[in-house]
Amino acid sequence: MKSTNTVLSRKLLQMLKKGNKLYSILTGTCPKCHSESMYLEKNPYKLGKLFKMHERCSHCNTKYKIEPSFFYGAMYVSYGVGVAFAVAAFVISFLFIGTSLFTSFIAIVGTMIVFLPVIIRLSRNIWINFFVHYDPNAAKKK
Ligand SMILES: [Zn+2]
Repeated sequence: MKSTNTVLSRKLLQMLKKGNKLYSILTGTCPKCHSESMYLEKNPYKLGKLFKMHERCSHCNTKYKIEPSFFYGAMYVSYGVGVAFAVAAFVISFLFIGTSLFTSFIAIVGTMIVFLPVIIRLSRNIWINFFVHYDPNAAKKK
């Protein structure tokens, strides 16, 4: 049991390292070189800067807004991400804590509101990672 745990945590760590899409998605770093944040403000809860992004990556010169209104597509992703958060909130409150259906519903609504900035950022990160892939040499090429 212990050995499977270490294998699992090693795999998880590997997934969170540079070079893996999950790293870029979770940290909001440039999808091509993973060297710097795409956002002017890393903290999504500074709401005034939630959507403010750099024009290009200063390491690999990747243009984030691939075409005009590129990030509108992220709305499709945010639907899926939102559902994932809602399901998680429901499972935690209804199945684990054992609250009533109504309280679980409140928990879902509360979760959606509290995590909205995170959901929006995650969706953008996932969306751009569909189109731009990691290139370990990108930062050097510039
Ligand atoms: Zn870059």
